[in-house]
Amino acid sequence: MFQFVGVVLLADFFSGLVHWAEDAYVRKETPVVGRWIGEANIEHHVRPRAFVVRSWWASSWDLVLTSVLVLMGAWWLKALTWKVWVFALVSANANQVHKWAHRAPHENGRVVTLLQKLKLLQTQRHHARHHTGQKNSHYCSITNFLNPLLEEINFWQGLEYVIEKTLRFKRKPDISVKAIAQPA
Ligand SMILES: [Zn+2]
Ligand SMILES: [Zn+2]
Repeated sequence: MFQFVGVVLLADFFSGLVHWAEDAYVRKETPVVGRWIGEANIEHHVRPRAFVVRSWWASSWDLVLTSVLVLMGAWWLKALTWKVWVFALVSANANQVHKWAHRAPHENGRVVTLLQKLKLLQTQRHHARHHTGQKNSHYCSITNFLNPLLEEINFWQGLEYVIEKTLRFKRKPDISVKAIAQPA
């Protein structure tokens, strides 16, 4: 049980890491990945509910693909344990859990709503914190447990600081935040 929780939190951490990297550094004009994820990412900050109508496959295919690669890699290395399976399955559904956190209970149905109430899945109120202010916190999107810890130690800001100092890469401005700061 303890290990299971650990693996879920690890998947939660990776979902946050990818989300953070996209929010901080990927924009529409970013080479290679920009058109593919930069646009959708900013779109989500501008119109958070736009993606809730998308199917599971439409919002998860890229994560499913990545998970399949992880599974194949683990199999090739003869390290395909139940932990790798749990990690891959949870990671593949990170965006679906994120989507549920943007939907109302009547849209999610009873089972998902119950899991959210039991705090086994990230809740709407918790995820809303990512969409307020500078939109630079609460990046993990699967549980409610990891974000408070990472925010407490200023993990993401620390990471951005180290990257700026070592690689000279600055966090990019978020147009959805600017729009709020300077109303036209
Ligand atoms: Zn975001
Ligand atoms: Zn969101």
